[in-house]
Amino acid sequence: MTMLNAISLDTGIESDMSEPVETVFSNASQPSVHVIGGRQFLHSIALILAPMSYTSTPVNGRPHLAVVDEPSAGTIVVIDGSLPDALEICSDLGETAPKILVSPETSFSFRAKCAQAHVSTVMSAPIDQAEFINWLEYLGGQMTSQPASILLVDDDPLASAVYAEMLRANGMTVAVLNDPLKIIMTIERSYFDLIIMDLQMPGTDGIEIAKIIRQHQNHLSIPIVFLSSEEDKQVQMKARQFGGDDFISKRADLDALVSLIHLRVQRARVLRNLIERDGLTGLLNHRRFKERVGQEMSRTKRTNLQFCIAMIDVDHFKKVNDTWGHPVGDKVLSILARALVGWVRKTDVVGRYGGEEFAVLLLDTSPDTIFEVMENFRKHFAKMVFDGQDGKFSLTVSIGVAGSDANGDSAALFAQADKAMYLAKSNGRDQVVIAGTDELPSSPDHDALAGKS
Ligand code: GH3
Ligand code: MG
Ligand code: MG
Repeated sequence: MTMLNAISLDTGIESDMSEPVETVFSNASQPSVHVIGGRQFLHSIALILAPMSYTSTPVNGRPHLAVVDEPSAGTIVVIDGSLPDALEICSDLGETAPKILVSPETSFSFRAKCAQAHVSTVMSAPIDQAEFINWLEYLGGQMTSQPASILLVDDDPLASAVYAEMLRANGMTVAVLNDPLKIIMTIERSYFDLIIMDLQMPGTDGIEIAKIIRQHQNHLSIPIVFLSSEEDKQVQMKARQFGGDDFISKRADLDALVSLIHLRVQRARVLRNLIERDGLTGLLNHRRFKERVGQEMSRTKRTNLQFCIAMIDVDHFKKVNDTWGHPVGDKVLSILARALVGWVRKTDVVGRYGGEEFAVLLLDTSPDTIFEVMENFRKHFAKMVFDGQDGKFSLTVSIGVAGSDANGDSAALFAQADKAMYLAKSNGRDQVVIAGTDELPSSPDHDALAGKS
């Protein structure tokens, strides 16, 4: 069994100054983490990253740390703040790579010095695992920000084509909708960061369409920017009153328009994350996950590509809270969430379906292929050892997998995956069950049960 102190890092960060080391931790679907510090520091980071399936590579030929080359693009640097030259290293690295400095000193004046040395954040030692991982995700997300995806709603095909080209030339992905009455269908099928809408359209107007969008609870958060030649302040006020977020004159300078859209998209992403993600784990919440599966269901009808969902429920989780306390339970959930995200592909989607129940949407794949992925995850998770302060413990998960059917709907798919998961529970837990198969894979629980009978 791999000994993995997955919760509190009682190793501390006392560094062995005689031998500072550097190691790069990588995982295909996550940003690389470049760690600079003493051996013990390195070990503590390795423990945190282990559940996220990172592999480590020592950086060779660096006997001294005074001069550090630019880390490769897409790398987050983590520095042991107890190195005497920690801040010089940060300064030398410049502004490009995000940096996390771990230090017992977190006073305001120290933080100010860190800010001058281009440190992104100062974390107090010993490192809180969940906080550290949240920072990695946040800083990683900033580096790999996806292009803004825009839906342009304008009845005029020529004008919309011109705008779309201009936005595309500025790195955005743009879908054009010339029939505003298809708006709900369109936004339910695909994910957009922002809607740009013409205010005056024949048969309807942008305000009417905004009202219709805002009648749907799922679409309360998508920003709507009106594009119009309308100069009337009262119409602008009405547009805002009924759910428009901004109002741009068609005569506005194109550069200003592009900057405004970029800013709106950035802000909207921050707000949407708050609305659509679960606060504890950072995963998509129940509603948004179901919506995402619904979108995939419509896509699958067009493409005929199968996808799967896996429902993952922690076995006997109530005991964790009862024995070790609710905060330890929370940390387990947060680690499980990160472990899942690290396990699946970057394109797959992980959601928190309920309290201690998670769901994964696995794109373009069949249940047979996914069985092995989830089975290996089950084994990986069962090997983790959590630290409840007064003692160590391990946990298992039960997993149900169902594959999409071109004629089915997402409610039926969820019901199948749920049923498979409950079958896994009733058959002894700690196993993966594929919907519609009677065959039960072997599992430690099973073997034990079989041995007893
Ligand atoms: P089973 O193997 O049948 O799934 O048993 P279980 O104990 O995992 O399932 P049960 O549904 O009886 O209990 C789930 C527990 O999860 C109860 C609830 O207090 C706990 N839980 C739900 N959400 C959270 C959370 O956010 N944090 C913590 N710490 N506990 C939570
Ligand atoms: Mg459970
Ligand atoms: Mg449950």
